[in-house]
Amino acid sequence: MGWAARIRRVTKEYVLDGGTVRALRGVDLEVPAGDYVAVMGASGSGKSTLLNLLGCLDRPTSGTILLGDEDVTLADDDRLSEIRATHIGFVFQSYNLIPQLTVLENIEVPLIYQGNYGSKYRKRCHELAGMVGLGKRLNHRPTQLSGGQQQRVAIARSLVNDPLFILADEPTGNLDSATSDEILNLLESLNRSGKTIIMVTHEPDVGARTRRIVRLMDGMVQSDQRLRENGEGEAESGEPKAEGGPSAIVDDRNSYTRSPEDTAPAPPPLLPYACPPTPDP
Ligand code: ADP
Ligand code: MG
Repeated sequence: MGWAARIRRVTKEYVLDGGTVRALRGVDLEVPAGDYVAVMGASGSGKSTLLNLLGCLDRPTSGTILLGDEDVTLADDDRLSEIRATHIGFVFQSYNLIPQLTVLENIEVPLIYQGNYGSKYRKRCHELAGMVGLGKRLNHRPTQLSGGQQQRVAIARSLVNDPLFILADEPTGNLDSATSDEILNLLESLNRSGKTIIMVTHEPDVGARTRRIVRLMDGMVQSDQRLRENGEGEAESGEPKAEGGPSAIVDDRNSYTRSPEDTAPAPPPLLPYACPPTPDP
C-alpha cells in the first residue's frame, strides 16, 4: 500500500510582535493512498496551518512531511512549487476560478502552468468537465455558473494533473445543503475510484461522509477516528472504475458534443497561473 502523506512530529510556530503562536505542537498523521480524511476542530485549532503544510504552501518549524515518498521538508522553493503544481489538487471554499476564463480554460490552468498545451491535454480537460457534469457548459464563464457548478469546475481543475491527493478547505462552506450534497457525492465518487482526499470541515454532517475524522485541538491531534475502511464502498457503488482517473459520475458525463451556446468566439489570452491562490489566513 502506498502513502499519500506522512507527517511526523510536525510543529509550526508563527512569530509575532507579541510573542510566538504555536499553531501545531507535534502532529503525527499518516494518510494512506485512497483515504478520505476530514480534518475537524475548533477555530484556531490548526486546521488551515496543517492544510497549508500539506499543500507545500508553507514549511513546518520542525518535523518531517513526506508526500508520496518525498521528504518535502528537504525541498527547495522551486521544487515546492513544482510539487504544488503537479502533485496536489486544491479545492477552496470560494472556488478560486479565474473569471475571464471559460470552464474548459479554468480546468486547463494547471496544465498551462506546466507548459502542457495541445489536443491531448485539451481532451483530458473535456473529459474532466464531462465527468463533473459540465460537458455542456465548456465555454461558460464562472459568473454564468451557480456556486455548485463553479465548485465542480474547481474539482475538475484539481484533478487535471492526476494529483497524489486533493486538499479541500471547506469545499461546501459556501453552498446550500442540496448543492453541498451534490458536491459531497462527487467527492465520494472520486474517492471510491481511488482518489485520496483530505478535507477541512467544521460541519459534522460533512465529516460523517468521509472515511476518517481527525480532530485537532490546540495544535495537536485530539482523536483519529476511522469510520470506513479504505476500499469499502467500491463494491456496491456499481460504477465502472476508469483507469488513471475517476469513473464517470454524473448524467451528462462524457458529453463532448458542443451545444449551440458553446460555439463562442476565440478564447481570451490565457492568464498566467497564479499558483495556487493562498488560502485565507
Ligand atoms: P484553524 O484553521 O483551525 O482555525 P489556523 O491553522 O488558522 O486554525 O490557526 C491556528 C493558530 O495559528 C491560531 O492561533 C491562529 O491565530 C494562528 N495563525 C494562523 N496563521 C497565522 C499567521 N500567518 N500568523 C500568525 N498566526 C497565525
Ligand atoms: Mg482555518
